[in-house]
Amino acid sequence: MKINVVESVLKANDAVAAENRRRLSAAGVLAVNVMSAPGSGKTLLLERTIPRLAPERCAVLVGDLQTTRDAERLGSATPLVTQINTGTGCHLTAPQVTAGLDSLALDGVRYLFIENVGNMVCPAGFDLGEHRRVVLVSVTEGDDKVAKYPTLFQVADAILLTKVDLLGVLDGYRRERVYEDISRINSRAPVFEVAARTGQGLDPWLAWLQAQRSA
Ligand code: MG
Ligand code: ZN
Repeated sequence: MKINVVESVLKANDAVAAENRRRLSAAGVLAVNVMSAPGSGKTLLLERTIPRLAPERCAVLVGDLQTTRDAERLGSATPLVTQINTGTGCHLTAPQVTAGLDSLALDGVRYLFIENVGNMVCPAGFDLGEHRRVVLVSVTEGDDKVAKYPTLFQVADAILLTKVDLLGVLDGYRRERVYEDISRINSRAPVFEVAARTGQGLDPWLAWLQAQRSA
């Protein structure tokens, strides 16, 4: 009985997600679900990405349990930002994204970034209606996270290794170990090494986004 309840919740979520995806595709918007642990640099990456893509072409839905802090930060990059507070919820769901879409004027928007709640487990299990999923992992989290949280990396269409400007001060970080784990878990996703703070590595990431939109 318990399994049936869980299945029906996921089925209901998936039906709403499919409708979100139809709505976004019809509007010509590429929706990107951005997932990672808390503090991997999702918000800063978007703060640096949006001006390069053109602010009027980008909108953001940002999920957090509490506060509007990330929306306030992103508000300096684009006016099209909605904060979704999940209360105790540790991931975004498709109906929350529907409500977020209702709050945004998507005319002329070409990219919707959905910054998920910082969490390396359940966001991977909830389709939001996105077209692409990107997963961040910062070098400051250590070199073992890909192996420890494989389900998140399995669903990624692209993986961003963030804060690479700090590699020089991290003793014992084995970058090759991260790449080995990624190639074992997900050989399909490109890996981008970025440092949003310095701008290092942003060009290939932006080119990837533009290519996904054309596709
Ligand atoms: Mg954030
Ligand atoms: Zn959750």
